[in-house]
Amino acid sequence: MENQRKARGLDSLLLSAIFLLTVIIAVFIFISGDSKFQKNTSAANNDKVDETTATLTETQSGFPDIQIIKESSNDISIPYSMQYPKTKFNTVNKEISKYIADSKEKYLDTVYLFRNENKNNSVVGDFRISLQIHQYKNDYYSFVFTNKSSVDKTKYDATIQTYLFNNNTGEFVNMYQLLDEKVKNLEVLAEYVQKQITSNPAYKEYLYTEKVQTLTEPKWRHFKKFSIVDNELVIYYDKDEIASPLAGMPTIRIPMSFLNPILDEKYRTNDTSSNTIIKTTHKGKRVALTFDDGPHEKVTKQILQTLEKYDAKATFFMVGHRVENNASLVREILASGHEIGNHSWNHSNLTTLTPKQVLSQYNSTNDVIYEATGQYPTVFRPPYGARNKCVNDLVSVPIVLWTIDTLDWKYRDADKILPMVKNKMHNNAIILMHDIHQSTADGLDSVLAYLQDEGYEFVTVSEILNYQTSK
Ligand code: ZN
Repeated sequence: MENQRKARGLDSLLLSAIFLLTVIIAVFIFISGDSKFQKNTSAANNDKVDETTATLTETQSGFPDIQIIKESSNDISIPYSMQYPKTKFNTVNKEISKYIADSKEKYLDTVYLFRNENKNNSVVGDFRISLQIHQYKNDYYSFVFTNKSSVDKTKYDATIQTYLFNNNTGEFVNMYQLLDEKVKNLEVLAEYVQKQITSNPAYKEYLYTEKVQTLTEPKWRHFKKFSIVDNELVIYYDKDEIASPLAGMPTIRIPMSFLNPILDEKYRTNDTSSNTIIKTTHKGKRVALTFDDGPHEKVTKQILQTLEKYDAKATFFMVGHRVENNASLVREILASGHEIGNHSWNHSNLTTLTPKQVLSQYNSTNDVIYEATGQYPTVFRPPYGARNKCVNDLVSVPIVLWTIDTLDWKYRDADKILPMVKNKMHNNAIILMHDIHQSTADGLDSVLAYLQDEGYEFVTVSEILNYQTSK
């Protein structure tokens, strides 16, 4: 009996325990289920909020692999609109999304801060990001974002953000890679950009001179905003960054062919130009090539072709008696931008002649060149460099001798011209050659190639004289 009672008491205890446990579990399930439910609704609510305040649309761009996403705010108290691309690469999209999100956040923060500070909740801002896409050499895309924002629609900030990426690999290309990872290439670019900014009349009176100096120092971080548009490298500056907003947003455009010598091979253009950035950055170095005793139908023509190849200007000191039969060649020389000088009628040593004879040598050559071209020679060089007071007094244009004699008239050897030039080369040199020897025409190419590599600009003697007298 006692044992039976004991067992019944145990049973009821066990039942109560089971019941209690069930209740606890039920309550726990209910609570956790409820919290889960609440979480779900709150997430749904958030999505709903975004849907009502922003509209997203996706359209195909003009380029096969790029979609354009347009996002605009539906909240009239915080309006904004943004355009950005979607590529086939997640890494590229991620980077761009980050820029877009950061820009939007910065704008919203600025507006809220402004409202707080001014205790005015009705302030309506404005924010737009627009996108331009450019393709280069099939493989590369540039994205250029123009970011304009205003807190109260009175004053706008405008900044530029750019990306260049390889549409085959999804890799971004920065200026460091573009310029073959060489600081010396950046130095060349930086110097050129600075010159372009300071010489542009549209910016001139608006430039912040000190900022231009600082931001064109050859540091990679100064050349982050760039794109390639229609075979030109474009460098961007934000509004108010290097010039007053009155000048707009300065850009510098440079043909890629002009930049070829400082670009990594991958990014060079197939368009080639004899005019390159390397040449213009050495504008301080000049040389005047001069050709005497012509014109010669064959030799002078070949020399003209070689000069054209290097975009070189030269000076031709002609003897009068050779001009008449080569009138069209003389016109061609002048039309190509070269200078024509008087070298007497028949190459006499003028110091052995009477004043009347000297004047005749000088005037008849002037006249025959004028008849051929409509212009008088602008400089004079006496045969053999022989001059005296009589010559000095009678000649009315500058008398120009030379600083380097190649001795081409003596050796008549195409291979001996370059060593002579190399030996004696100096800045503002006037080099003496003769366009009546085939060997001179044949040896000229190597001379021009050497001088161009050394950074010399090929100018006429009058230009060299200008420089020397102004010094
Ligand atoms: Zn001569």
